[in-house]
Amino acid sequence: MNRDSVEYLSQEQWAQWHTELLQSTVNRAFSRVPFYKERMRDAGVSPDDIGSVEDIVKLPFTTRDDISDNYPYGLFSVPLRDIVRIHALRSGHANPVARGLTAQDLRKRTELTARFFKISGVGADDIVQICLDPGMALHGQDLKEGAENLGALVIPPDPVSTFTRLRIMADFKTTVLITTPSYGRHLFEIFKEKNMPLAALNLKTVILIGETLTDEVRTIFERELDCETRAAYGIFEASGPSMAYECHCKCGLHIAMDHVIPEIIDPKTAKPLPEGERGELVITTVTARANPLIRFRTGDITRITKQVCTCGRTSWRMMPVESRCDNLLTVRGVKISAGQIEKLISDRTGAGPLPFLVVLHKWKHLTQIEILIAIDEKIFMGSLPQLHRWVRQSEEIFQEAIGISCRIRPVEFESIKPCLQEGRFAVSEEEFNKGC
Ligand SMILES: [Zn+2]
Repeated sequence: MNRDSVEYLSQEQWAQWHTELLQSTVNRAFSRVPFYKERMRDAGVSPDDIGSVEDIVKLPFTTRDDISDNYPYGLFSVPLRDIVRIHALRSGHANPVARGLTAQDLRKRTELTARFFKISGVGADDIVQICLDPGMALHGQDLKEGAENLGALVIPPDPVSTFTRLRIMADFKTTVLITTPSYGRHLFEIFKEKNMPLAALNLKTVILIGETLTDEVRTIFERELDCETRAAYGIFEASGPSMAYECHCKCGLHIAMDHVIPEIIDPKTAKPLPEGERGELVITTVTARANPLIRFRTGDITRITKQVCTCGRTSWRMMPVESRCDNLLTVRGVKISAGQIEKLISDRTGAGPLPFLVVLHKWKHLTQIEILIAIDEKIFMGSLPQLHRWVRQSEEIFQEAIGISCRIRPVEFESIKPCLQEGRFAVSEEEFNKGC
């Protein structure tokens, strides 16, 4: 099938194609992944029950807990010799997310990212600069490979300072910037503070991923930079950063339906919801060879429309993610769970679960994490300089584990007690702007 025409299939053609793709995915998962065979048997469903794509609702869900529980190889559907790359990602759960890719998986992922770039107006003459936190390294790699596939010049997300990134952007005349909405605003705030005129930049497009792009923030980018903006949506567990992307109409994100089958369910009852209703996005991968995912619950709350877009594409469109229905925090595109922080604290103190408060500060549009940990002299018996050293070391360990920098502050239990949920932890948002 011609990949360029794939987004213009009729709804009947989509249904027919999805039926074929779903049947082969379910067959492969059932016969090669013991986890799926067991889950499907528990649900009383077999591959023979999938007569059409509508039968997808008979299949059991896959969750992030399932991926964590089956680390490292439990969800692989091909032998290791067929896998050419494994990504082990930080996750909000006990184990990393390990995703294998066959040579075909890699090629398809790169083709999809390149298609997303083409639709975003990016071409071989562009200079593409990617500015993302280390916690989004896999998205960064997919984007780099997709842009290189088009022949563009790529400046990957190297670990340099914000100011160095800005210098590179100006000196190399970056034409396409890929970042999160909050980090993008942070970059340009710093740029203005350094008295560097935004007009000196050569940006024609800013692609915003990892966080929801609001109309207000979009307008700020387009007005201040006199450039085009595009939003995209993706998850690490499947299909990468271009699972859904905007066309020039910017009225929702076209889902790459040749790679995934999307559904919207009620997050409480897990029942499918009609078109247009707000609920949790669930996706089934249909091209992934190494790690097929059946009915993966993303935790993201959105709506889907099946109406043909003004651009002519028939692929369904998801609206920007409104919120999450699980306890994962998304900070600068990186997902963090309370359980992950709790475990890090336990490992550092050796004292079992301790109460903590996560405070999200906004500094020049960028969310900063501060973790207030209830530590008393029974847990830490060292001197004050030793405590300072312990805090600095903890901050390094937490940054490595979470993927973004965070500040740690030991506090007395009584000072955070009123904020805690069930006496254990809480998340609080404080917005303030402090001087540079
Ligand atoms: Zn469109």
